[in-house]
Amino acid sequence: MPVKRADKTPMPVRQAATRAHDFVEVNRGYTLAHARFEAERCLRCQDPVCVSGCPVGIPIPDFIHAVEVGDMPAAARILRSANPLPAICGRVCPQESQCEAVCSLANRFSPVAIGHLERYVADWERTQPMLAQPNITHAEKIAVIGAGPSGLVCAGQLAQRGYAVTVYEALHAPGGVLRYGIPEFRLPKDVLDWEIGVLQAMGVEIVCNVIIGKTLTLDDLTERLGFAAVFIGTGAGLPQFLDIPGENLNGVYSANEFLTRVNLMRAHDFPESDTPVRVGRRVAVIGAGNTAMDTVRTSLRMGAEEAMIVYRRSEAEMSARVEEYDHAIEEGVTFHWLADPLEILDDGSGWAAGLRCRRMRLGEADASGRARPIPIPASEFTIPVDNVILAIGTTPNPLLTRTTSGLATNATGCLLADEQTGLTSKTLVFAGGDAVTGAATVILAAGAGKRAAGAIDDALAARRPAKPGRGGYAQSHSER
Ligand code: FAD
Repeated sequence: MPVKRADKTPMPVRQAATRAHDFVEVNRGYTLAHARFEAERCLRCQDPVCVSGCPVGIPIPDFIHAVEVGDMPAAARILRSANPLPAICGRVCPQESQCEAVCSLANRFSPVAIGHLERYVADWERTQPMLAQPNITHAEKIAVIGAGPSGLVCAGQLAQRGYAVTVYEALHAPGGVLRYGIPEFRLPKDVLDWEIGVLQAMGVEIVCNVIIGKTLTLDDLTERLGFAAVFIGTGAGLPQFLDIPGENLNGVYSANEFLTRVNLMRAHDFPESDTPVRVGRRVAVIGAGNTAMDTVRTSLRMGAEEAMIVYRRSEAEMSARVEEYDHAIEEGVTFHWLADPLEILDDGSGWAAGLRCRRMRLGEADASGRARPIPIPASEFTIPVDNVILAIGTTPNPLLTRTTSGLATNATGCLLADEQTGLTSKTLVFAGGDAVTGAATVILAAGAGKRAAGAIDDALAARRPAKPGRGGYAQSHSER
């Protein structure tokens, strides 16, 4: 085995003191020299376990080899053949728990920076003319509900297979969480717009401001508008609350509302934009996942002097990406670990003024596999705050299932769908992404959209009459 450099080529980043006050992207991206230098570290293993660690099965060693030899068109082609959203996944995927976690180098050194290389290639591709074009070869048209990563990937894969696809999106802009949840400083919206533009260039039609279950029903799509199959990618956008006193006070937000106001409605440009958001001096964000980390860092950028995470477990149980956590620390975010919120205190005029908490210790693992937090008696304390933002999880919005007969869900409101095909309890209605799994990741949603597109194609192909002289039994018989 050739000797490889032990450490990843670091991602160039902007200075914490500057970036913590604006929305410009934190990571600056590799240069060509960085990318080729890092690509040389790949061992090109005989059994590339990194590929099985990737939910969309990117041929990782192949695209990295193309980078190493400087063949960027080939690298871009290989990447896009497996992942229709590479510029996004290169920025937001939790590579440390997926492809990079199983990289053979990781046994002794730091793994190859697969995510940084993916981003480099996808950003190179964005500097080139867009090559995509429509190629509709099938008579059947397909409807996709929701323009998040699962719906967009499903639509793109179906367009590639020759179908006319219409995506219906409830909001006024496509992208799902990529648009309204993940902030500009992690995922610039021109990157998202470019990736969506590729899909539109392939013929995918995106119709915004249509709520399926209100503007139209799911059955309207198949019975009135003539869609042969439907993919549901409606996500899990309904925020959960703690159900503690004071949650209705002014200054208390769900992370979804707070981030949507800033990212989608551009509250940071208020009064040039229509939507304000009121951020005080001290902001407490409850939770420690990606949503919490995005929220706390956004509150700094919105002017908070003190932005803190309050979490009832410890740092070890935190689910946020390591990079986001490191960046939050560098930007001055503080952390109250093992602190369980009990009440949001009123300043006497209906505004939040404090967060009363109790201290916790960790016990045995619970059903989630993480150490269970246990209250420490007589350990209450109060943190003075002006805002409390809840980032403790989301569930699927029940609107669609309440207005569609025969669409089965589990106890938490997630759609029941076959793991491989995404087929729901309704004929030719498929689903994937957070609507099925509950809140998860972009790449898992993308993988589900990709698998469902294949299954929709198979299901529709099976219903077509065999062409005379081709296909069907006679041909397969003669091919044996
Ligand atoms: P969504 O992205 O939620 O998209 C669903 C879309 O459907 C939305 O646009 C919604 O408006 C639309 N819709 C809903 N109901 C209807 C309806 N009835 N009719 C029409 N349209 C409808 N994952 C990562 O991998 N890395 C990260 O760094 C990361 N950071 C995150 C940060 C935040 C703040 C959040 C909230 C999530 C983050 N995630 C991250 C998780 C990831 O974004 C989601 O798992 C992913 O977006 C799910 O994709 P989806 O297509 O299933 O749903």
